[in-house]
Amino acid sequence: MNILIVSAHPEPASLTHALRDVAATQLRADGHHVRHTDLYAEGWKSAVDGADFQALHGGTHPRETPRLHVPAASGAAFAAGTLTDDVRAEQAKLLWADALILAFPLWWFSMPAILKGWIDRVYSFGFAYGVGEHSDTRWGDRYGEGTLAGKRAMLLVTAGGWEAHYGPRGINGPMDDLLFPIHHGVLFYPGYAVLPPFVVYRADRLDDAAFDAAADALRTRMRGLFTTAPIAFRRQNGGDYLFPSMTLDPGIVSATGFAAHVRDPEPEAD
Ligand code: FAD
Repeated sequence: MNILIVSAHPEPASLTHALRDVAATQLRADGHHVRHTDLYAEGWKSAVDGADFQALHGGTHPRETPRLHVPAASGAAFAAGTLTDDVRAEQAKLLWADALILAFPLWWFSMPAILKGWIDRVYSFGFAYGVGEHSDTRWGDRYGEGTLAGKRAMLLVTAGGWEAHYGPRGINGPMDDLLFPIHHGVLFYPGYAVLPPFVVYRADRLDDAAFDAAADALRTRMRGLFTTAPIAFRRQNGGDYLFPSMTLDPGIVSATGFAAHVRDPEPEAD
């Protein structure tokens, strides 16, 4: 199988990159093909701006063209095949990969800005959003359907805080909740089946023994990349949501909050 690992850390010798390499080595040992996007090493441009869509305007400066409307410009450039080379190359890698791994340190309870900028630019209209039929009866192909359906995705995260601080009653809030916007909004939205994350806590104080333990656990996760059960997010078009409010059907689920968008575990067979 093909795996793309996108990493976001400014230091080549960082813990994040050491773990990325552990993952890649295990995947290759298991016969998979691995490609990388190392955002800092590649000098990734993270801000969306008019330069992203200049080719649409025949090379004229965007200020000489009508006001920039990003979704429209993004969709037109995607349809015309005129997105910038760096963005088209990343979209091709996403289409090539059967699984995507995003490797990053938790910075301010989210991903580093350079990785957010990769998503902002690579996830163009027509590729990751604005996909499928939008009509009186359907709100497109998203949340479990879309361009990247049939593929898997997983986060590889290092965090300075303690695991307990991210537990159900921890001061930082539950890690599952903090990662929900990435898991559900960024990965499940364009179709990925999202695996439980691999998180290394207390990462700033990781000694060699703790690194070895984390590396072993990560190797196990990599061996199960294509067999681990994904998080059971409810599919938009799977019957759990009312149209057009796109709210959970109260006859199906009464809970609220992030967890309500995850199906209950299937009852155990006798
Ligand atoms: P590094 O700094 O590269 O290494 C960490 C430790 O791992 C070092 O002691 C290193 O010696 C050791 N190590 C052991 N083995 C190896 C090996 N083989 N290779 C490399 N290193 C090894 N934390 C939170 O919990 N929540 C936050 O919201 C948060 N926000 C932050 C915001 C910013 C801007 C910054 C800079 C940090 C923040 N942190 C936060 C902390 C951050 O999550 C950690 O600093 C980060 O996860 C550590 O990972 P790293 O890859 O940068 O580690």
